[in-house]
Formats: sequence, structure tokens, C-alpha cells
Amino acid sequence: MITIRWDRPENSPVGATVLQEAAHTPAELRRLVTAARADPHVTAFRYRSVRQLDGPEPTHCNRGHAYRGGSATQARHDWLTCNCGGHHLITCRWPGCADQLITPPWIEDECDAEPPLEQRPEKG
Ligand SMILES: [Zn+2]
Ligand SMILES: [Zn+2]
Repeated sequence: MITIRWDRPENSPVGATVLQEAAHTPAELRRLVTAARADPHVTAFRYRSVRQLDGPEPTHCNRGHAYRGGSATQARHDWLTCNCGGHHLITCRWPGCADQLITPPWIEDECDAEPPLEQRPEKG
């Protein structure tokens, strides 16, 4: 959900000083944020995501493992608090994989959450 405020209604594309819009995808949120930033009449904007995946939930890790397998391979979901509202961190639990998927993706120069640690090769 993004909230954008303009100095005057006539300067806003919607003819009002406040617009609240739900961004359905990270790409859409990014587009709205970019547009709000570029508009000199925008006085303030804020956005947050809800602790709920918008759109279809990812079903496979980056290596193609199904997230919804048996309980042993069920992906782990974590929540990262962030400036932008937060990110879901989904960790693949297939043996030897541990792939991490972040949704929505980091927004450059905007996100202040600590990115998860990179996968480190096993010592040995
Ligand atoms: Zn995997
Ligand atoms: Zn963020």
C-alpha cells in the first residue's frame, strides 16, 4: 500500500491531494515510488507492505525445489523488518540447498533491513 500526497489537487494526476494505492507487485510498487520521487509536487509519500504475500506465493526456490513438499522440505518463512515495510525471506530446506528468496526484492537506496547472510561454503 502506498500513500502519496501532493501540494495541490490540480497538480496530482488523480485530482486529489492524497492517493492511496495498493501495489500488487514489487515492480508496481517500484514504479509508483519512482513516479512519486520524480514528481516535484509530491510533498510526501510513504509505503508499506503487509505481512502477507501479494500475488502468487513463490512455489520453488531458485534451484527449482518445490517449497511445499513433505514437512521435512517445507520452506522456512522469515520476516525481515525494513524501511519499506518488510520482506519475506523464504529459505529452501532441501538437503544441501538453503537457497534464499527475498520478496519483495530490495529497493535500492530505500531498504535498511540487514540482508541475510550470504550462504557460506561449509568449512572443511
Ligand atoms: Zn532449493
Ligand atoms: Zn525493504
